[in-house]
Amino acid sequence: MNKQRQITLPITRYDRAYDIVVVGGGTAGVMAAIAAAESGKDVLIAERGYSLGGSATVAQVTPFMSVRIGDARNSYVSTRMQTFLEERGYTAPAWSGQPKTMFSPVTMSVTLEEMAVAAGVELLYGAAFVNTVIEEGHIRSVLLQTLDGLCEVETAFVIDGTGDAQVAFVSGCPYEAGDPEDHDYNQNMSLRFAVGGIDLYAVNTFLAELFGEEDPKNPHVYMAMEWKAGDNELTMLFHDAVEKGILERSDGVYFQAFSSAAYGNDVMYFNCPEAPNCRHTTDMFEVTQGVVDCRAAAVRLHRFLQTYIRGFENSTIISFAQLPGVRESRRIVGEYYLTVDDYNECRKFKDGIAQSAYPIDVHGKSQLVHPRGFEPGEYFEIPYGALVPKGIDNLLVAGRCISASFWAQSAIRIQLVCHALGEAAGIAASMALDLSCAANKVDGAAVRAEMIARGGTFLPSV
Ligand SMILES: Cc1cc2nc3c(=O)[nH]c(=O)nc-3n(C[C@H](O)[C@H](O)[C@H](O)COP(=O)(O)OP(=O)(O)OC[C@H]3O[C@@H](n4cnc5c(N)ncnc54)[C@H](O)[C@@H]3O)c2cc1C
Repeated sequence: MNKQRQITLPITRYDRAYDIVVVGGGTAGVMAAIAAAESGKDVLIAERGYSLGGSATVAQVTPFMSVRIGDARNSYVSTRMQTFLEERGYTAPAWSGQPKTMFSPVTMSVTLEEMAVAAGVELLYGAAFVNTVIEEGHIRSVLLQTLDGLCEVETAFVIDGTGDAQVAFVSGCPYEAGDPEDHDYNQNMSLRFAVGGIDLYAVNTFLAELFGEEDPKNPHVYMAMEWKAGDNELTMLFHDAVEKGILERSDGVYFQAFSSAAYGNDVMYFNCPEAPNCRHTTDMFEVTQGVVDCRAAAVRLHRFLQTYIRGFENSTIISFAQLPGVRESRRIVGEYYLTVDDYNECRKFKDGIAQSAYPIDVHGKSQLVHPRGFEPGEYFEIPYGALVPKGIDNLLVAGRCISASFWAQSAIRIQLVCHALGEAAGIAASMALDLSCAANKVDGAAVRAEMIARGGTFLPSV
């Protein structure tokens, strides 16, 4: 445990005060900010990087995984964003026959900026949240590190969209991290990378030959493999590469790659490698080593592809994600704590603000664990209470760090769910300000009703 001590630092106080500061302009944070601005609130996004979208853009996480609830789309802001992307030709199927869920991180970041600015959200990039100034359980201001030094921004409400529950953590709200039954180890993180200059037609025909398929998936290529999934034609190539010293065995813990017309016709994005030795994703020494290990592994994987897979001969690595792909770090323990029972029993709530049938999906265990899938028409809900931290009356948490058990969190981290969580937080924060009430006094059923009034669609909660 690192030691803590008090120090005194000079602070610049910004002239402007806000109704709502959203800390972190990522997957959930942008939705929160837009929804709050569209409630007529004065909203600032304080983002430590220089782009919106978070994991979706700077961690290069694409595609949207489906929430598997038919045509229902809980978040109206997300639906608007997907319409923009489609209208501009910025989306494509992940592979043949799939819906257009693939997007490019580049065009996504532009689209989100355009939407946020149009909604009247003020953006502050290069602003790393450091701490909160709290009086009697109420946040008065947030402290941000910018090029001006340490800056204080007054706000009536804060939404924590950091993915790591960073605001809730430094504000003393209860939280958990990792698997309590396994040394509090977090799920494996990944460092995504992209390869360009690929002859996708050659890759397609090669993979079709390798797997004995008559119908190559051209023009969309999808490759996936894990050692634990058993040997297939692709894993046999991996085994050979390990024997020849081109790959290390850990490089095959998880291997997944997509091509997509949304990126360009010669590019593939890799949902790997994973960093199995990074067990605590809030320990920055471990995370740093994980990133270093992943970059080296990506170079090995690329060499493997060039050596074994026709079509990669003239390719090159064109980018490493600038944000490590953290699936899970801290999770608040809030007013409602989502559990595997809620998931297993497909529980519904009066204040259900997100619906999903995406399965439990834990990375980093001896195998990917999917305890229970869903029959068509089955789904579970996430109640508003899972966004409400304990101990602070003007703070909400949105995104992958809401109040859920280790296993339940693995089913709710996907982007479309995070969009709904963010939007609900933005609407609820605005309601709390309008009603001059604490976050835990906001009626979650009214939040859901407002999401629907603005164009969100929900399956019935029966
Ligand atoms: C490797 C990987 C693969 C995945 N695959 C898929 C997939 O295929 N499909 C899918 O739908 N989902 C997928 N997911 C899940 C999904 O992408 C994430 O869970 C989700 O995007 C997280 O959203 P978020 O808003 O909680 O956090 P993020 O989108 O990560 O946003 C957090 C934001 O907060 C900012 N921030 C953090 N700390 C501070 C601070 N102190 N000050 C200021 N700003 C700060 C960050 O810079 C970032 O912009 C995957 C996740 C990972 C890691």
